[in-house]
Amino acid sequence: MSAKLCCNSAVPYKPIATDYERYFKLFLFNTAPSIPIEEHIIQLARQENFGKLLDVKFFNWNGSTYEQIEETDVIKHEFTKINSFKNFVCKKCNLFFEINLYLKNGAPRASHHWRYNINRLNEIDSIQ
Ligand SMILES: [Zn+2]
Repeated sequence: MSAKLCCNSAVPYKPIATDYERYFKLFLFNTAPSIPIEEHIIQLARQENFGKLLDVKFFNWNGSTYEQIEETDVIKHEFTKINSFKNFVCKKCNLFFEINLYLKNGAPRASHHWRYNINRLNEIDSIQ
């Protein structure tokens, strides 16, 4: 899997193909996009699997690399969260990840609440 997550044991959790695959692939695998990719922000949230939220980090793509930024920068530069995300789970590390995408011209979200909630798709299914 990706070095951006915990280790090689992290796997996609209920993967859903979105219109924004190229952004997630760029972030996770450093795959060079075939078309130029606009400035965007990746939000990476890490939590214990079925446990507490550990941290939320933001990374800004500046055209050639990702640099970590603060949450206040996201608000300041008026990026909006796209209704598209990826989840990953690592049973070895007992971690759950969520990756969200922010674009400059994204569709505005109704909610302005910044309290973080993981978009776990269907918790019941994954209890084993
Ligand atoms: Zn791991």
